[in-house]
Amino acid sequence: MIYSLKEAVEEITLAGYQLEAEAFELLKILHHEEHFKLVIVETINQARKKDLKLLIITRDMIETTLEKLTQEKETTEMKIHPRTTIPFARDIPTEIEILQDGSEETDSSGKIDDFNNYFKDRFQKLSKIIRERLDFNSAKEISYALEKKYGEKVKIIAMVTRRRERTEHLFLDIEDFENTATLMVIREKNKELFEMARRILPDQLIGIEAIHGKGDLLIAEQIVLPDVPERKQKKAKDPINAVLLSDIHIGSTTFCTDAFEKLILWLNGKVGNKKQIEAASRTKYVLIAGDLVDGVGVFPRQEKELSIPDIYQQYKLLAQYIEQIPDYMEVVIIPGNHDAVRQALPQPIIPKDFAEPIYEARNIRTLGNPSEISIHGIHILMYHGRSLDDIIARVPNLSMKTPDKAMEYLLKSRHLAPEYGARTSLAPERRDRLVITNVPDVFQAGHIHVAQNSVYKSTIIVNCGAWQSQTEFQKRMGLDPTPGIMPILNLQTMEVNMMNFMYNEALS
Ligand code: FE
Ligand code: ZN
Repeated sequence: MIYSLKEAVEEITLAGYQLEAEAFELLKILHHEEHFKLVIVETINQARKKDLKLLIITRDMIETTLEKLTQEKETTEMKIHPRTTIPFARDIPTEIEILQDGSEETDSSGKIDDFNNYFKDRFQKLSKIIRERLDFNSAKEISYALEKKYGEKVKIIAMVTRRRERTEHLFLDIEDFENTATLMVIREKNKELFEMARRILPDQLIGIEAIHGKGDLLIAEQIVLPDVPERKQKKAKDPINAVLLSDIHIGSTTFCTDAFEKLILWLNGKVGNKKQIEAASRTKYVLIAGDLVDGVGVFPRQEKELSIPDIYQQYKLLAQYIEQIPDYMEVVIIPGNHDAVRQALPQPIIPKDFAEPIYEARNIRTLGNPSEISIHGIHILMYHGRSLDDIIARVPNLSMKTPDKAMEYLLKSRHLAPEYGARTSLAPERRDRLVITNVPDVFQAGHIHVAQNSVYKSTIIVNCGAWQSQTEFQKRMGLDPTPGIMPILNLQTMEVNMMNFMYNEALS
């Protein structure tokens, strides 16, 4: 099928962009070219990555895309060839430590008492983190603030229970173990603070600098989230790679078989150009952050979108792939919301009853969701990402296109599911194990199906993307995934490179 100039312009407009006159001139020249559609799609993708406020597609941007694609074409030879050298990572000893396994505690009895203990634990852990900041280490309780005279300044730590927004004011109901109060943020007084307060969710812990007003009213001067500290980025001494993947969704009609099989071949050093083969040779770890299979009955009318309707068969096919991962590599697996395990977080490991074939296929490590591991001294927080949906829906200025920004929000909150009682269900436990107590060097998640990476205060943030192209369900939700694009983390340089296993398919 020929992709016309008209279709190209429509695609750009539909994506919400305008076309610069000079860019249109260039498209007129290009539209007979073989890969015209790919150029358009890729330019739109690049524009989205750049800046949320960007509205115009320029000639420059198209030219950059052209350059990138020619380079990729030259370097991407996805022809299968035999492995020619001994992989570098084979002789590097494994250095892995399980720091925190999300499957550890399942002592929930579901009593009301647990609920109170849970919030007490959340409060204590997060207030301790806020107190690690120099400017908040002597912060007080609400009662202290309320005893102060009208107009006096106070510094406290409290949990937000409700947010009410008016045009000019914003009210946060706050509480601690003994008291409640109302924190008022005035737009006129500090616009930046007002915008920041708009992004605060119920159940979050905050540090507050305020002036005591009338009764239980406090007027905000400064609000801080627990956040992660500035620090030096950690790097491993060995030039070893970890590939970060998630959301394989085996069993779905839109599972990208060709791309995933290419990934397996690549791990075996059998596809790719020189640079890519080198990257495979240095790969020692395969970290999978959940949604291994599409599951059954996960969303309404899912059966229409399944090519394998039986969950056992789905895991069986996955096992056939897992088996082919070279034996010197360490494979770590945590579950996601599509896997055959309870939904409430933290999730235990995928039970053997369902996933026996993967346990038999080869030596793997399965952990709960979330879990923390250390490889070559690099601390990695693995989390599937169910709550990212909630965060994106509830916090202003976040979008499905930038899941890394939503992950950054979780880091700032130091909690993987800041709002209790949102769509993400949390297991009733005595302890809150979703507090991000230790600051990770790498924060890996998936679930959104959009591969993105960024750095926030020395923490590498990676959303793994997916191996499933757009489903009918996602189309209805307006989600545009980036299947077959996989982040590779170099533990020595701490750089993340995206490898595109869909390139050949995009061309045809
Ligand atoms: Fe998924
Ligand atoms: Zn998911």
